[in-house]
Amino acid sequence: MIHDALQIKRDGGELTEEQIRTLIEGIVDGSVTRPQAAAFLAFVFARGMTVDETVALTMAMVESGDQLVWDGMDGPLVDKHSTGGVGDKVSLVLAPLWAELGSCVPMISGRGLGHTGGTLDKLESIPGYRTDLSTPELQSVLGEVGCFISGQTASLAPADRILYALRNETSTVPSVPLITASILSKKLAEGIDELVLDVKWGSGAFMKTHEAASGLADMLCRVGRGAGVLTRAVLTDMNQPLGRTVGNAIEVEEAIACLQGQGPGDLANLTVDLIGDPRAKAVLESGAAYERFCRMVSAQGGDPNAPLLGAGCAERVIESDGSGMITGVDALAIGKAAFVLGAGRTHADQGVHPGVGLTVHKKVGERVSTGEPLVTMRTAGRGEDEAVALIRDAYSLND
Ligand code: URA
Repeated sequence: MIHDALQIKRDGGELTEEQIRTLIEGIVDGSVTRPQAAAFLAFVFARGMTVDETVALTMAMVESGDQLVWDGMDGPLVDKHSTGGVGDKVSLVLAPLWAELGSCVPMISGRGLGHTGGTLDKLESIPGYRTDLSTPELQSVLGEVGCFISGQTASLAPADRILYALRNETSTVPSVPLITASILSKKLAEGIDELVLDVKWGSGAFMKTHEAASGLADMLCRVGRGAGVLTRAVLTDMNQPLGRTVGNAIEVEEAIACLQGQGPGDLANLTVDLIGDPRAKAVLESGAAYERFCRMVSAQGGDPNAPLLGAGCAERVIESDGSGMITGVDALAIGKAAFVLGAGRTHADQGVHPGVGLTVHKKVGERVSTGEPLVTMRTAGRGEDEAVALIRDAYSLND
């Protein structure tokens, strides 16, 4: 059976739902050998998968672990996934805002592996905030507050963890069906009715071109819908950072300002677009979602009124050495600058510094004069000179 399935995929054929389920079950229980699993990934990488096959792969991965079930919730169960970008703190604003609009948002999120921390790392700069809630705790926070943002439990889509590690080892990560099944299996195991995907393209994104992001968005929507979840995608430009801050605590500060109706326009607009509810803009501007955010933080053990962790960093301002119009603020270089200051990690077991980061004063389309601040860095004695060089390189000016 496994041999037949491998030969079919090797030769470019289409696998049945049963063949895919048997493969995934065998990869998780160890009856499919690691070489067979690696061959499967390599054949999928080379030959691709149809939408039906990708739905079957996604569902087999969902069914490899626990599926969350929410009892007695009032509103529709919704969530968002972003393919990741520099300065992307949308989840922190979106979850309480969507809950404020009457939906239930059971957001299982991740840590960053890359330039800056992920959503969980950012939230952990709030003293006491717990990202390891048990399933009964998740149920109670969702019931009381209407949203939570917590980490993945070991029992959620375990097939994805095994496959992701193997994909890394076999250089088969950048495959649209494998990415699609990986992303969707974790989200569908949350037991949601509706999913919105923020698929980013550009220098600071996983997908570098609009075309590649569009192909992934299309597959994600078809497969999500095929698996019975209302799925939408928004394609967003990630050539310059989102908002004006990059780091961990510093991004929480900006998300809080946005929740209070004072966020940067691009962050507020993207959050509202993703939610897709005509009331979202007015509610965000009213500041009402900030109270919901504070309730979520408290329910997850955090103190919304305490100073964020990582205070006490030194500040250093980088000034413009020319005048003109900003034509580019390369998101990848800004992300790398935050990383060398200590905001990100390269291995899952490393910590991130909560306090270091950047405020981007000038973005594309804005004017700058010689000596005006471009960026303020918060530093903790690491990587300063390298960060300055990266930030200077990130900026393009047209005089
Ligand atoms: N994010 C995921 O969760 N999985 C992938 O394969 C790629 C991005």
